[in-house]
Amino acid sequence: MVEESGSMGNTGGRRAKTYDIIKNARVAVGLDITRNHITVVVVDLKGEVILRTGVRHPFERTDEYYRFLGALVDQAVQKCGLAPDKVLGVGIGIPGLVTPDHQKVFYGKILNFTGATCEEFSTYINYPSSLFNDANAAGFAESWFSNRTKNFFYLMLSNNIGGSVVINGEVYNGDHLHSGEIGHLCIVPNGRKCYCGQRGCVDAYLAATELSSLTDGNIGNYFALLKSGNKEAKAVWEQYLQHLALAVNNLYMLFDCTVILGGYVGSYIEEYLPTVRSYAAELNTFENGDASYIEVCSYKTEAIAAGAALNYISAFIDSI
Ligand SMILES: [Zn+2]
Repeated sequence: MVEESGSMGNTGGRRAKTYDIIKNARVAVGLDITRNHITVVVVDLKGEVILRTGVRHPFERTDEYYRFLGALVDQAVQKCGLAPDKVLGVGIGIPGLVTPDHQKVFYGKILNFTGATCEEFSTYINYPSSLFNDANAAGFAESWFSNRTKNFFYLMLSNNIGGSVVINGEVYNGDHLHSGEIGHLCIVPNGRKCYCGQRGCVDAYLAATELSSLTDGNIGNYFALLKSGNKEAKAVWEQYLQHLALAVNNLYMLFDCTVILGGYVGSYIEEYLPTVRSYAAELNTFENGDASYIEVCSYKTEAIAAGAALNYISAFIDSI
């Protein structure tokens, strides 16, 4: 598990040797499953992503899809030149709610896969596997990489909205495992229809698709269009920011902690942070004129896949 990494000090006698962890003594694989895309990462014992790859492949609950998933995992392990016994497990991040044993999807409206099991996902995966809610996985990655041990709310602004409540560095799941589901908090009574069946939910206003629908679903292109000064893009952004400020202020009133903007939109929002803060500050009951509690995610891409894998790394380190 450890190797000599050099020497330190010079006190006249023999120099003290230093040791470091052999980073790829063990690794974990992480997957991020979305409607049209699969991301695969391999993470080492230091939590660093040593391989990342992605492929466009629409989700379907078929044997062919799961076979493809198994092949992707095998390819990733091979590309890293690792023996299979070095792989601790495969964490599968999904846009759904998962039972506490990480084996079954109990709410899966986004991909219409309620009831799907880890067994079915891992039919062709030759390693221990577990399912993880996407936002919770991303929140876990954020707390690992930024060394956050305190309380924060991770707001996942991707094609769907997710949230993760992290208390003292640990994800708080709630009594029925749907804590932090900010996507279904109503911000506009009788507003736009949400996929959940209700109206006016945060998801219907803050999903990244509200922006990327202007650019054929490509969020990077949307932000390029916005930067170019396009009027329509600016108008949509202005509305988006107003709704975002409202949602974020609600979170702050409820949890009184840092709110991290993550997901697809979070990875582009850094330069707009002063505007987001100024809008949210106007709504703040307690610290008038301040919204410095809003931060941007430090882990910009592959947070879900990495977080799903990190669960295996973390459990392994705890077991030593
Ligand atoms: Zn909803």
